[in-house]
Amino acid sequence: MRLFSWDRPVFAAASLTLALSGTASQAQWLAPAYELRLHPDFEAKTVTAQAAISLRRGAQLQDELRLSAPDLEIRSASIEGLALSPEKREGYWLIKLPPLLAARLEMTLQLDYLARAGEGLVFGADYVYTAFHTCRWLPCVGSDLGRASLKTTLDLPAGFSSLASGVPLAPPVPQAARAQQWLEAAPYPRYTLGFAAGRFTQSSESAGDKQLHYLGVSDEVAALQAKFKATPAMLAFFSAKAGLALPHPSYSQLLLPGGVAQEMSSYAAIGHKMLDPILENEQEDWVIAHELAHQWWGTWISCEQWSEFWLNEGITVFMTAAWKQQRWGEAAYQRELDIAARGWQRAKDANFDKPLSWPGDYPSLSLKRSIHYSKGALFMHALRQDLGEDAFWAGFKRYSQASAGRQVRAADLQTAMEAAAGRSLQPLFDAWVYAASSGQ
Ligand SMILES: [Zn+2]
Repeated sequence: MRLFSWDRPVFAAASLTLALSGTASQAQWLAPAYELRLHPDFEAKTVTAQAAISLRRGAQLQDELRLSAPDLEIRSASIEGLALSPEKREGYWLIKLPPLLAARLEMTLQLDYLARAGEGLVFGADYVYTAFHTCRWLPCVGSDLGRASLKTTLDLPAGFSSLASGVPLAPPVPQAARAQQWLEAAPYPRYTLGFAAGRFTQSSESAGDKQLHYLGVSDEVAALQAKFKATPAMLAFFSAKAGLALPHPSYSQLLLPGGVAQEMSSYAAIGHKMLDPILENEQEDWVIAHELAHQWWGTWISCEQWSEFWLNEGITVFMTAAWKQQRWGEAAYQRELDIAARGWQRAKDANFDKPLSWPGDYPSLSLKRSIHYSKGALFMHALRQDLGEDAFWAGFKRYSQASAGRQVRAADLQTAMEAAAGRSLQPLFDAWVYAASSGQ
């Protein structure tokens, strides 16, 4: 999600790094797989849900299970027919497990719950979508950076279509009241799991062996096609630079009212405020590029720790600039770098210029973004300058291919880039990524 600021809109995605810091330490149980049946109520602006959550624990017995989803109304919980009693605590739900269950390594938790409209679960008159604040609609277990698969079944009124992480299990049939199913079989970062439903207009096209879908709430098909027309060329560009095809057989972009800009696994939610400037100036294509780039960097390849969120966002900001350079020329690339330089300058002006992988707490989201988005992008440019075109892109491809489908650290990028450069890049990484600085 992006919020407007002084210069270029900035992303609210980073806000989660503050809001959710600390949850990893509570990850007594992991939830590697979710199955949800969701019933959106468009009048009440609620979603009633049944969940089957696969749980897995580590070596130690855990007689408590925490659901870091305090805004959900959990109505019942059971494991293999044994009713449990969730207790609402400050910031989470606690389920005490009897010894028989605490000793288990794996089991499936069944939940009935209600989610209400709010941040992360956004209702319009005839649509609903999720955006980033996953625990507002999904019963979160473990770290928000943890990966999980998701099977979603949506019970929708006649005429509604849907979108969710992964692939549709049956082609959606608008005009029919029925359950629509989606499956994200690969484990993806939990914050990139989501769904949307509504009376969407839709246009589709092929790009190589991939399908591109453009969906809208208020746009006619021709408007969707005009606004998203750059997508196939971007898909080709990012696929080539990653050395990896798009992870899913299709990619969908849902155009919504407002200012959302949020990557999800297999799709993006994009607001009119973000995209519609493209009607005045076709070079204003950054939001399409940014969210599409996240299909590789940020979702499929995701940071292992929030302190290295720049591996998601700095790389994506840089790749958006690289797209613009290829499509619109050197001045367009330089403009993106200038925007990033002004972003980084805000951190310098605040005397809070931290190494990219600095593990401490930032006093504001703006400063955190200045480092992870802006300085991160400029570091990628610095690497490019240092290595030269051939070695840089070879190293970047190496990093992307080696990291596909997993969590990464800065060391993964360094290893790949050093292999391509044929020399140590320790001084450069020390200067930008790891260097000690005041205030740690
Ligand atoms: Zn982003």
